[in-house]
Amino acid sequence: MASYLITGGAGFIGSHLAEALLARGHHVWIIDDLSTGSIANLDPIRENPRLQYFVDTIMNTARMAELIDRVDGVFHLAAAVGVRLIFENPVHTIQTNIRGTEIVLELAARKKKKVQIASTSEVYGKGARVPFRESEDLVLGPTTCPRWSYACSKLIDEFLALAYWREKQMPTLVTRFFNTVGPRQTGRYGMVIPNFVGQALRGEALTVHGDGRQTRSFAHVRDVVRAVIELMERDDTNGEVFNIGNPQEVSIIDLARRILELTGSHSEIRHVPYEEVYGPDFEDLDRRVPDVTKLAGTIDWSALQDLDAILRAVIETERGKL
Ligand code: UDP
Repeated sequence: MASYLITGGAGFIGSHLAEALLARGHHVWIIDDLSTGSIANLDPIRENPRLQYFVDTIMNTARMAELIDRVDGVFHLAAAVGVRLIFENPVHTIQTNIRGTEIVLELAARKKKKVQIASTSEVYGKGARVPFRESEDLVLGPTTCPRWSYACSKLIDEFLALAYWREKQMPTLVTRFFNTVGPRQTGRYGMVIPNFVGQALRGEALTVHGDGRQTRSFAHVRDVVRAVIELMERDDTNGEVFNIGNPQEVSIIDLARRILELTGSHSEIRHVPYEEVYGPDFEDLDRRVPDVTKLAGTIDWSALQDLDAILRAVIETERGKL
């Protein structure tokens, strides 16, 4: 059995990853500053003797050195996330995402510990060749639009991780997460599915940004976590970049309609101009769909949960909170 450190392990994806690693018999260490994560996310596993967690920032180099020393590999998930948060705190986003990753890689390199860097489909930006392949050109908007600072900071992380492998033979890999959904994701940071489901269940209008023709593809967090673990366990993934996501595409307006159907809600759909939500200088992405050929070819992976299954699961969780 191995032992792993998960930075951001009390977050939505991190806590599911911790659960899955423990279920496989591994030891898990978590560091999380609870900026967007929460201890409640660890409720199902808190008593597990193979879990240790620390409420601390990844900028605490001494703590990080100690933790990295103890483990066989690191899943680096700690980051500033969520479009709204990034838009409101661009300085924090850039600092956390770049400096934090530098610390993780620098420390792991001393001991040649394997690191998986969680990146994002945001890096495909305005690319028009959908579905996106890992080798695709990346097209970002101007620096006057803060949204792009997230993609850009994550790209620096990717370059750095790949450089460590190339130059120092330290095992690293990069995973680009597409929209991930499931129990414990909160609508607080603007994520669309928990937001719409909450609105539908409370009888409030579903707030569709713009005309709603923009598309996304949503993967269940358990499908995502399975890919994250299996990629980490293999040596042929070192120095590689992988998309992780469900290629099933849906427009935001159709998503809203489907959530109304599945919840039986009589809420109306209200179109809200982007400017009203994010102010001026905001740019959205038209389509976002992963090409998962590389992932499926490497670990024999496909998404087991389709959009309806995901929505039903989220509706059930949100109903429980009412
Ligand atoms: N969105 C929306 N209403 C909401 C929240 C989000 O229409 O209440 C839209 C958002 O503008 C985007 C899509 O849903 O086009 C996905 O948004 P999310 O923030 O979940 O993820 P990301 O933009 O990172 O894909």
